[in-house]
Amino acid sequence: MNDKYITRFAPSPTGALHIGNARTFLITWLRARSLGGKVLMRMEDLDHPRVKIKKVEQAYEDLRWLGLDWDDKIVVQSQRNDLYCSEFSRLYRSGLLYPCFCSRADIQAAQSAPHAGEDLVYPNTCRGNAIDDIDYDKSRLAWRFNIGETSEVTYHDNFYGDQTVNLDMTSGDFVVARQNNSKKISISYQLACVVDDNATGVTEVIRAADLINSTFRQIELYKALGYSMPDFLHLPLVVGSDGRRLAKRHGDSRISCLREKGVSPKVVLGWLGWSCGLCEFGVEIDLNELLQGFDLNCISSKKVIVNESDLKYLGF
Ligand code: GLU
Repeated sequence: MNDKYITRFAPSPTGALHIGNARTFLITWLRARSLGGKVLMRMEDLDHPRVKIKKVEQAYEDLRWLGLDWDDKIVVQSQRNDLYCSEFSRLYRSGLLYPCFCSRADIQAAQSAPHAGEDLVYPNTCRGNAIDDIDYDKSRLAWRFNIGETSEVTYHDNFYGDQTVNLDMTSGDFVVARQNNSKKISISYQLACVVDDNATGVTEVIRAADLINSTFRQIELYKALGYSMPDFLHLPLVVGSDGRRLAKRHGDSRISCLREKGVSPKVVLGWLGWSCGLCEFGVEIDLNELLQGFDLNCISSKKVIVNESDLKYLGF
């Protein structure tokens, strides 16, 4: 085993895994195993109101059903708050955070143009706030990371090549934690993800391309926390026939549905393998066969369109 290469699965149990998530996890697994490396499992269950316990178990089951396995102990984010808070404190002490009292409506009203489906760009309204200005009676407060004056961030993506963004245009100062009026801190996805990827020794972060915008923010956190930077590899998004990210409106595409209907995982792997340029359309294939022929260069950088006939073929 190549003990230097480590990547991870990081499902969010806010919904069921669908065929698009399965494709990302399959490629993650094939990449790691073809390099003789490790795959860790991290359950990203910090989004409290939306996390459904049943979905946690279902995610493990769905992946196992496809034959995807993982190494070491599962990392459960909801059990790691102490670690996140201590890294949050380091950022706080370094003076890179400030308290923000803006509501979503305030931020929306300050946008120069609507950014449909994108994150809101924060106009840095509260950047001047001193830590001493905190009024704990305000029920909602967000801790934002100050991106500074030179907000251009560049990295090399192991799938898409060189990427550059100006954080002023895509996020502005971004939230790393929220605090309620009883001073309880909830750490954001951006910070928890960086702390965990670093703590678990991840050498390559693999995920879908809709998170490229997060990667730029996370790179700034890596630098601020003094962590060594992993590699990043983003994969084309799986979309419905309308070009929008696969969702319920496109029909059922949950792996658990196929599992319950008794569809063979080989059919699903065959379709996924075909979508990655690894086999012909319509074959049934097992994971080992896909692993033998795995080549990242076979995967097209175009979005993967799942239309009704694909869903039907898969057995939905
Ligand atoms: N939990 C995130 C998701 O399911 C993935 C986060 C990551 O890979 O960094 O979209």
